[in-house]
Amino acid sequence: MTVSDLWKEGRREWDPVVFEGVLNPEDQQLASSLFLSKHSDKDSYEWAYTKNAKYSVKSGYWVATHVNIHEDEVIQPPQGSIDLKEKLWKLQITPKIRHFLWRGLSGALATATQLRTRTIPADPICQKCCQEEETVNHILFTCPFANAVWRHVYSLVGQIRFSYSLEDNLRRLLLRATHPSLNTSQRLGPFWIMWRLWKSRNDFLFQKIIRSPQIEANKGVHEANEWIEANSNDEATRIDQTSQNRVTDRGSQWQPPPSGWLKCNFDSGFMQGRTFTNTGWIIRDSDGKVILSGCAKLQPATTPLQAEALGFLHVLHVVWAHGMRQICFEGDNKELISIINNCEDHSSIGSLLYDIRHWMAKLPLSSLDHINRERNSAADKMAQHTLTISSLYHLYSVPPPCLIPHLYKPYTI
Ligand SMILES: [Zn+2]
Repeated sequence: MTVSDLWKEGRREWDPVVFEGVLNPEDQQLASSLFLSKHSDKDSYEWAYTKNAKYSVKSGYWVATHVNIHEDEVIQPPQGSIDLKEKLWKLQITPKIRHFLWRGLSGALATATQLRTRTIPADPICQKCCQEEETVNHILFTCPFANAVWRHVYSLVGQIRFSYSLEDNLRRLLLRATHPSLNTSQRLGPFWIMWRLWKSRNDFLFQKIIRSPQIEANKGVHEANEWIEANSNDEATRIDQTSQNRVTDRGSQWQPPPSGWLKCNFDSGFMQGRTFTNTGWIIRDSDGKVILSGCAKLQPATTPLQAEALGFLHVLHVVWAHGMRQICFEGDNKELISIINNCEDHSSIGSLLYDIRHWMAKLPLSSLDHINRERNSAADKMAQHTLTISSLYHLYSVPPPCLIPHLYKPYTI
């Protein structure tokens, strides 16, 4: 079977009816979210276990030791509520904390109580308080030490009385994480506190390091804020940002292209589970004058990288359609730009790359460069602007008012 056997007849579109006959429901959903290249003409094999889709001995060994290839062998799912795990997995926090909490829910963290269920002799009592059995819930919520840490972050979490059920406690914090009136630190900070409590327990147990609840609380808050700041371009944290974030030093100032050239800055937003990808772009000349700007709702993406790739493919179409040929593209996703410029492959955006290269070949007098987020702020603003429009696509010959603070200063003054 080839990929085109799964298309609607005569059209490059997935056919859900054919899917039903050959794929299980879960795979049907995954397959329908795959970007279908408009230009590729032959199928090829890809290795699914490396980023660049190429086989390596290391990844082969990993597959041989980790992937169960006997399909008839039934693998028991790990314990813990599946819906809670799904919510956890969608949370916009650092992957290591998501993974840690997922292991906690699955009974895969080596607490004293958990070790005993695997018949490993261990004292089941919490070594910090010597009062109760050491479970994940005890370490994170009900141990007097954990209580003291949570009290120090009162401003972050407010008054929460934690229960003896790990799932209940996590459910409440996950609900808080979606609260629209809280800022990002308040919504996401508690997850770093949990991570800190687990680290604190390990430091104490294995290295005999004792820190006060206040120090652990401060560390947790600091780590959370650092991460939130570093990832402030994500949709989830954009809510907090105001225009005061505009930086005016030279390194953050957008630079016009050489005379006779145009520059197109583009950016995409990504949010897990959203029904579209928001993309914005702005095209300026060598004086910094805005020639055209616009925004669009594109098909949904499954990763930030895919969202950026969809956005770039879109601006290639726009530029081509407006007859622009000598054009410098600039975006702020380093990974995408490095993949394109170094002619690399990528397992999750393979067919998108194919189409991007197809269009770039039509624009031989174009370049693609990476710039920091500050320099790309006008495109970022346009991508956010997409969320305020009701149509799928909007083109501006005069920049919308929201863009004015982000324009090229020497020109606007
Ligand atoms: Zn304890």
